[in-house]
Amino acid sequence: MVLADLGKRITGAVSGLVRSDVVDDKALDNMLKEICAALLEADVNVKLVQSLRKSIKHTVSASPPGPQRKRLIQSSVFNELVALVDPQTDNLFKPKKGRSNIIMFVGLQGSGKTTTCTKLARWYQARGFKSCLVCADTFRAGAFDQLKQNATKAKIPYYGSYTETDPVRVSKEGVDKFRKEKFEIIIVDTSGRHRQEEELFREMVQIHEAVKPDQTIMVLDSSIGQAAEAQSRAFKESANFGAIVLTKTDGSAQGGGAISAVAATKTPIVFLGTGEHLLDLEKFDPKRFVARLLG
Ligand code: GDP
Repeated sequence: MVLADLGKRITGAVSGLVRSDVVDDKALDNMLKEICAALLEADVNVKLVQSLRKSIKHTVSASPPGPQRKRLIQSSVFNELVALVDPQTDNLFKPKKGRSNIIMFVGLQGSGKTTTCTKLARWYQARGFKSCLVCADTFRAGAFDQLKQNATKAKIPYYGSYTETDPVRVSKEGVDKFRKEKFEIIIVDTSGRHRQEEELFREMVQIHEAVKPDQTIMVLDSSIGQAAEAQSRAFKESANFGAIVLTKTDGSAQGGGAISAVAATKTPIVFLGTGEHLLDLEKFDPKRFVARLLG
């Protein structure tokens, strides 16, 4: 089910109840059943759905039937959905001016990594940080060319190699070079694979050791549905990323899997990719995300 449909179904269930005269426990249960069915169809993990149901029920059943109860239902559905996408970690990375902040990107091939690296470099550039890009993807032919093209369009300095096959060496060289040149945001784009392979995870650990990033970001394609949870868990174990960028949220994305990924890894989404263009990057705001979801 696409995100917009998920929102419509939840909104429909809530407003159906709010419009009705009787807001007794049976009506509440029916609404919860419909909301939970919609979330499950959107690939949200069953345990999360159960816990959401319990929380709403707990909050609402304590209040007497009446207009307040209707308002309480609306706000508690909203708040529980926000809680689903907001792991509330306070340790969000804030780059500092006047020093080199290293950001390493990880994610599967096709997730939107290279595109997002450039978008983020441009984002920081526009906010006064001297930003650059390092291509550590020596695995995919054409990866460096793609980064080069994106970076040139965005007027962001870049580093990469056509001949060096060791991604650890390239990333270290690039980061060292830009550090010396006093760049403030150095974004390292690593290689992805089509699947989560041992070799990829080993490589990520080695690059991590070589460049010692201040922040590791996982790029997650919002359209991959249920696979998002297992994928992000596996990446979390080896790359221990501290933030997620959810891409392709402009498409007919199934966002449920991504919601589960956030909850499973207790890692916040920090940005949304909202299109293919350089400026299609948006700071993630859990309340706004849910408000938009519910229309
Ligand atoms: P990588 O293999 O992970 O580096 O992925 P790429 O950056 O090459 O992106 C794969 C495809 O997804 C490209 O065609 C991008 O233009 C597209 N893409 C990336 N982010 C977004 C997004 O937020 N929205 C849309 N619609 N397309 C995106």
